[in-house]
Amino acid sequence: MPNIDLHIHTIYSDGTWTPREVVLRAKKLNLAAISITDHDSVAGLEEAIARGEKLGIEVVPGIEMSTDVGEDEIHILGYYLNWKEEEFLAQLEKFQGARAKRNRKLIKKLKELGMEINHRELEGLVAGGVISRLHIARLMVRKGYVSSIGNAFEKWLNPGKPAYVKRMNVSPFQIIELISKAEGVPVFAHPFLSKRDDLIPHLVKAGLKGIEVYHSAHDSRVTQYYQKVAQKYHLLITGGSDCHGEAKDKVLMGKVKVPVSVLRVLKKAAREEILSVK
Ligand code: AMP
Ligand code: MN
Ligand code: MN
Ligand code: MN
Repeated sequence: MPNIDLHIHTIYSDGTWTPREVVLRAKKLNLAAISITDHDSVAGLEEAIARGEKLGIEVVPGIEMSTDVGEDEIHILGYYLNWKEEEFLAQLEKFQGARAKRNRKLIKKLKELGMEINHRELEGLVAGGVISRLHIARLMVRKGYVSSIGNAFEKWLNPGKPAYVKRMNVSPFQIIELISKAEGVPVFAHPFLSKRDDLIPHLVKAGLKGIEVYHSAHDSRVTQYYQKVAQKYHLLITGGSDCHGEAKDKVLMGKVKVPVSVLRVLKKAAREEILSVK
Protein backbone atom coordinates (compact mmCIF):
# COMPACT_ATOMS: atom_id res chain seq x y z
CA MET A 1 0.00 0.00 0.00
CA PRO A 2 1.39 3.44 -0.82
CA ASN A 3 1.79 6.04 1.90
CA ILE A 4 0.97 9.74 2.07
CA ASP A 5 2.64 12.82 3.56
CA LEU A 6 0.37 15.64 4.71
CA HIS A 7 2.94 18.09 6.12
CA ILE A 8 5.44 19.60 3.66
CA HIS A 9 6.97 23.08 3.29
CA THR A 10 8.12 24.64 0.01
CA ILE A 11 10.06 27.76 -0.98
CA TYR A 12 6.84 29.70 -0.40
CA SER A 13 7.76 29.44 3.29
CA ASP A 14 10.85 27.85 4.85
CA GLY A 15 11.28 24.74 2.71
CA THR A 16 13.97 24.65 0.01
CA TRP A 17 12.08 22.91 -2.80
CA THR A 18 9.58 24.39 -5.23
CA PRO A 19 6.07 22.89 -5.25
CA ARG A 20 6.95 21.26 -8.59
CA GLU A 21 10.01 19.61 -7.10
CA VAL A 22 8.03 18.42 -4.08
CA VAL A 23 5.43 16.75 -6.29
CA LEU A 24 8.13 15.16 -8.45
CA ARG A 25 9.86 13.80 -5.38
CA ALA A 26 6.56 12.48 -4.06
CA LYS A 27 6.11 10.63 -7.34
CA LYS A 28 9.59 9.10 -7.05
CA LEU A 29 8.82 8.04 -3.48
CA ASN A 30 5.60 6.43 -4.69
CA LEU A 31 3.45 8.52 -2.36
CA ALA A 32 -0.26 8.45 -3.20
CA ALA A 33 -0.96 11.92 -1.85
CA ILE A 34 0.74 14.89 -0.23
CA SER A 35 -0.26 18.18 1.27
CA ILE A 36 1.66 21.43 0.97
CA THR A 37 1.43 23.18 4.35
CA ASP A 38 3.47 26.35 4.14
CA HIS A 39 3.59 28.68 7.14
CA ASP A 40 0.87 31.34 6.87
CA SER A 41 0.85 31.07 3.07
CA VAL A 42 -1.13 29.33 0.33
CA ALA A 43 1.05 30.69 -2.48
CA GLY A 44 2.48 27.29 -3.44
CA LEU A 45 -0.82 25.45 -3.73
CA GLU A 46 -1.80 26.26 -7.30
CA GLU A 47 1.51 25.09 -8.74
CA ALA A 48 1.52 21.91 -6.63
CA ILE A 49 -2.05 20.98 -7.47
CA ALA A 50 -1.47 21.52 -11.20
CA ARG A 51 1.71 19.44 -11.10
CA GLY A 52 -0.03 16.75 -9.07
CA GLU A 53 -2.75 16.45 -11.68
CA LYS A 54 -0.11 15.93 -14.35
CA LEU A 55 1.82 13.31 -12.42
CA GLY A 56 -1.13 11.52 -10.83
CA ILE A 57 -0.40 12.56 -7.23
CA GLU A 58 -3.23 13.85 -5.14
CA VAL A 59 -2.34 17.24 -3.63
CA VAL A 60 -4.45 18.25 -0.64
CA PRO A 61 -4.64 22.02 -0.14
CA GLY A 62 -3.15 22.88 3.23
CA ILE A 63 -1.57 25.51 5.43
CA GLU A 64 0.24 25.64 8.78
CA MET A 65 -0.47 28.65 10.97
CA SER A 66 1.54 29.76 13.98
CA THR A 67 -0.29 30.78 17.14
CA ASP A 68 0.65 31.51 20.73
CA VAL A 69 -0.68 30.66 24.15
CA GLY A 70 1.39 32.55 26.66
CA GLU A 71 4.99 31.57 26.04
CA ASP A 72 4.04 28.43 24.10
CA GLU A 73 3.71 28.06 20.34
CA ILE A 74 0.79 26.10 18.98
CA HIS A 75 0.72 25.33 15.27
CA ILE A 76 -2.59 24.69 13.57
CA LEU A 77 -2.79 22.92 10.23
CA GLY A 78 -5.74 23.57 7.92
CA TYR A 79 -6.75 21.06 5.26
CA TYR A 80 -9.15 21.33 2.32
CA LEU A 81 -9.72 24.98 3.07
CA ASN A 82 -11.19 27.27 0.49
CA TRP A 83 -7.82 28.90 -0.06
CA LYS A 84 -8.98 31.37 -2.67
CA GLU A 85 -11.59 32.96 -0.42
CA GLU A 86 -11.02 36.69 -0.18
CA GLU A 87 -11.60 37.13 3.52
CA PHE A 88 -9.18 34.34 4.31
CA LEU A 89 -6.53 35.79 1.97
CA ALA A 90 -6.97 39.23 3.56
CA GLN A 91 -6.30 37.71 6.99
CA LEU A 92 -3.21 35.94 5.68
CA GLU A 93 -1.90 39.21 4.32
CA LYS A 94 -2.27 40.71 7.76
CA PHE A 95 -0.17 37.94 9.32
CA GLN A 96 2.40 38.22 6.55
CA GLY A 97 2.66 41.98 7.09
CA ALA A 98 3.24 41.42 10.80
CA ARG A 99 5.92 38.84 10.01
CA ALA A 100 7.69 41.30 7.69
CA LYS A 101 7.71 43.88 10.47
CA ARG A 102 9.04 41.31 12.92
CA ASN A 103 11.79 40.29 10.49
CA ARG A 104 12.96 43.87 10.21
CA LYS A 105 13.18 44.07 14.01
CA LEU A 106 15.05 40.77 14.09
CA ILE A 107 17.58 41.94 11.49
CA LYS A 108 18.08 45.14 13.47
CA LYS A 109 18.73 43.20 16.67
CA LEU A 110 21.20 40.93 14.92
CA LYS A 111 23.00 43.94 13.51
CA GLU A 112 23.31 45.40 17.00
CA LEU A 113 24.80 42.06 18.03
CA GLY A 114 27.37 42.26 15.25
CA MET A 115 25.67 40.03 12.68
CA GLU A 116 24.80 41.53 9.30
CA ILE A 117 21.83 39.85 7.64
CA ASN A 118 20.85 41.45 4.38
CA HIS A 119 17.14 41.62 3.61
CA ARG A 120 17.75 41.07 -0.08
CA GLU A 121 19.67 37.89 0.60
CA LEU A 122 16.78 36.69 2.73
CA GLU A 123 14.33 37.37 -0.05
CA GLY A 124 16.53 35.30 -2.34
CA LEU A 125 15.71 32.24 -0.25
CA VAL A 126 11.94 32.39 -0.77
CA ALA A 127 9.63 32.60 -3.75
CA GLY A 128 7.96 35.78 -2.54
CA GLY A 129 6.46 33.84 0.34
CA VAL A 130 6.86 33.89 4.10
CA ILE A 131 10.29 34.56 5.63
CA SER A 132 10.75 32.76 8.95
CA ARG A 133 13.45 32.49 11.57
CA LEU A 134 14.72 29.40 9.75
CA HIS A 135 15.75 31.55 6.76
CA ILE A 136 17.60 33.90 9.06
CA ALA A 137 19.30 30.92 10.75
CA ARG A 138 20.39 29.59 7.34
CA LEU A 139 22.05 32.90 6.48
CA MET A 140 23.70 33.04 9.91
CA VAL A 141 25.30 29.65 9.14
CA ARG A 142 26.27 30.72 5.62
CA LYS A 143 28.01 33.80 6.99
CA GLY A 144 29.84 31.85 9.64
CA TYR A 145 28.16 33.54 12.63
CA VAL A 146 27.06 30.14 13.96
CA SER A 147 28.13 26.57 13.29
CA SER A 148 24.67 25.12 12.63
CA ILE A 149 21.00 26.00 12.30
CA GLY A 150 20.36 24.40 15.70
CA ASN A 151 23.06 26.59 17.16
CA ALA A 152 21.50 29.74 15.67
CA PHE A 153 18.24 28.98 17.49
CA GLU A 154 19.82 27.87 20.76
CA LYS A 155 22.17 30.81 21.00
CA TRP A 156 20.23 33.67 19.40
CA LEU A 157 16.78 33.06 17.96
CA ASN A 158 14.80 31.05 20.52
CA PRO A 159 12.49 32.78 23.00
CA GLY A 160 14.57 34.33 25.75
CA LYS A 161 17.70 34.53 23.54
CA PRO A 162 19.25 37.90 22.56
CA ALA A 163 17.85 38.21 19.02
CA TYR A 164 14.35 36.89 19.72
CA VAL A 165 11.41 38.98 18.61
CA LYS A 166 7.83 37.83 19.20
CA ARG A 167 5.49 37.21 16.30
CA MET A 168 2.11 38.94 16.19
CA ASN A 169 0.09 37.46 19.00
CA VAL A 170 -2.73 35.32 17.68
CA SER A 171 -4.51 32.57 19.58
CA PRO A 172 -5.18 29.05 18.30
CA PHE A 173 -8.86 29.72 18.95
CA GLN A 174 -8.85 32.58 16.44
CA ILE A 175 -7.08 30.45 13.87
CA ILE A 176 -9.41 27.49 14.34
CA GLU A 177 -12.27 29.88 13.67
CA LEU A 178 -10.54 31.36 10.62
CA ILE A 179 -9.82 27.95 9.07
CA SER A 180 -13.34 26.72 9.84
CA LYS A 181 -14.83 29.80 8.21
CA ALA A 182 -12.80 29.02 5.10
CA GLU A 183 -14.39 25.53 5.19
CA GLY A 184 -11.10 23.89 6.18
CA VAL A 185 -10.39 21.15 8.71
CA PRO A 186 -8.34 22.57 11.63
CA VAL A 187 -5.74 20.16 13.04
CA PHE A 188 -3.39 20.47 16.03
CA ALA A 189 0.10 20.10 14.50
CA HIS A 190 2.87 18.06 16.20
CA PRO A 191 1.28 18.25 19.69
CA PHE A 192 4.34 16.58 21.22
CA LEU A 193 6.46 19.63 20.31
CA SER A 194 4.03 22.09 21.89
CA LYS A 195 3.70 20.15 25.14
CA ARG A 196 0.27 21.69 25.73
CA ASP A 197 -2.04 18.69 25.72
CA ASP A 198 -3.97 20.42 28.48
CA LEU A 199 -5.36 22.73 25.78
CA ILE A 200 -6.83 19.91 23.68
CA PRO A 201 -10.32 19.85 25.26
CA HIS A 202 -10.53 23.65 24.91
CA LEU A 203 -9.38 23.53 21.29
CA VAL A 204 -11.96 20.82 20.58
CA LYS A 205 -14.67 23.01 22.07
CA ALA A 206 -13.51 25.81 19.76
CA GLY A 207 -13.90 23.58 16.70
CA LEU A 208 -10.64 21.62 16.39
CA LYS A 209 -11.34 18.63 14.13
CA GLY A 210 -8.06 16.72 13.99
CA ILE A 211 -4.70 15.99 15.52
CA GLU A 212 -1.38 15.25 13.86
CA VAL A 213 -0.60 11.80 15.20
CA TYR A 214 2.20 10.84 12.79
CA HIS A 215 5.12 13.30 12.74
CA SER A 216 8.92 13.22 12.53
CA ALA A 217 9.15 14.27 16.17
CA HIS A 218 6.77 11.49 17.31
CA ASP A 219 8.35 8.10 17.99
CA SER A 220 6.15 4.98 18.01
CA ARG A 221 5.26 5.39 21.68
CA VAL A 222 4.22 9.02 21.19
CA THR A 223 2.31 8.10 18.03
CA GLN A 224 0.36 5.44 19.91
CA TYR A 225 -0.35 7.88 22.70
CA TYR A 226 -1.82 10.48 20.32
CA GLN A 227 -3.85 7.78 18.60
CA LYS A 228 -5.57 7.28 21.95
CA VAL A 229 -6.00 11.03 22.40
CA ALA A 230 -7.63 11.21 18.96
CA GLN A 231 -10.01 8.44 19.95
CA LYS A 232 -10.86 10.07 23.25
CA TYR A 233 -11.80 13.40 21.68
CA HIS A 234 -13.22 11.99 18.42
CA LEU A 235 -10.54 13.78 16.44
CA LEU A 236 -9.45 12.96 12.92
CA ILE A 237 -5.93 11.59 12.59
CA THR A 238 -3.43 13.22 10.23
CA GLY A 239 0.29 12.94 9.71
CA GLY A 240 3.33 13.95 7.76
CA SER A 241 7.06 14.44 7.84
CA ASP A 242 7.16 18.26 8.26
CA CYS A 243 9.71 18.23 5.45
CA HIS A 244 11.60 21.51 4.84
CA GLY A 245 13.76 20.11 2.01
CA GLU A 246 17.48 20.62 2.56
CA ALA A 247 16.89 23.13 5.36
CA LYS A 248 16.25 20.14 7.66
CA ASP A 249 18.00 17.26 6.01
CA LYS A 250 17.10 14.75 8.69
CA VAL A 251 13.38 15.34 8.24
CA LEU A 252 12.59 14.43 4.67
CA MET A 253 9.30 13.71 2.96
CA GLY A 254 8.05 10.16 3.05
CA LYS A 255 10.15 9.39 6.13
CA VAL A 256 7.12 9.17 8.39
CA LYS A 257 4.88 6.39 7.17
CA VAL A 258 1.30 7.60 7.04
CA PRO A 259 -1.22 5.09 5.68
CA VAL A 260 -3.48 6.13 2.84
CA SER A 261 -6.53 5.26 4.98
CA VAL A 262 -5.83 8.47 6.95
CA LEU A 263 -6.58 10.51 3.85
CA ARG A 264 -9.77 8.62 3.06
CA VAL A 265 -11.22 9.44 6.47
CA LEU A 266 -10.01 13.07 6.39
CA LYS A 267 -11.42 13.68 2.93
CA LYS A 268 -14.78 12.19 3.78
CA ALA A 269 -15.00 14.31 6.92
CA ALA A 270 -14.02 17.46 5.01
CA ARG A 271 -16.78 16.83 2.47
CA GLU A 272 -19.40 16.13 5.13
CA GLU A 273 -18.35 19.28 6.96
CA ILE A 274 -18.94 21.41 3.88
CA LEU A 275 -22.31 19.79 3.25
CA SER A 276 -23.41 20.33 6.85
CA VAL A 277 -22.49 24.03 6.69
CA LYS A 278 -24.26 24.65 3.39
P1 AMP B 1 9.03 31.61 12.79
O1 AMP B 1 7.75 31.07 12.23
O2 AMP B 1 9.57 32.76 12.03
O3 AMP B 1 8.97 31.85 14.26
O4 AMP B 1 10.14 30.47 12.56
C1 AMP B 1 9.94 29.19 13.05
C2 AMP B 1 10.51 28.17 12.07
O5 AMP B 1 11.87 27.94 12.37
C3 AMP B 1 9.82 26.83 12.25
O6 AMP B 1 8.80 26.69 11.30
C4 AMP B 1 10.89 25.82 12.04
O7 AMP B 1 10.95 25.44 10.69
C5 AMP B 1 12.16 26.55 12.37
N1 AMP B 1 12.72 26.20 13.70
C6 AMP B 1 12.30 26.58 14.91
N2 AMP B 1 13.11 26.11 15.88
C7 AMP B 1 14.08 25.41 15.25
C8 AMP B 1 15.23 24.67 15.68
N3 AMP B 1 15.57 24.57 16.98
N4 AMP B 1 15.99 24.06 14.74
C9 AMP B 1 15.68 24.17 13.43
N5 AMP B 1 14.62 24.85 12.97
C10 AMP B 1 13.83 25.46 13.86
MN1 MN C 1 9.19 25.80 9.38
MN1 MN D 1 5.13 23.51 12.97
MN1 MN E 1 5.64 22.49 9.60
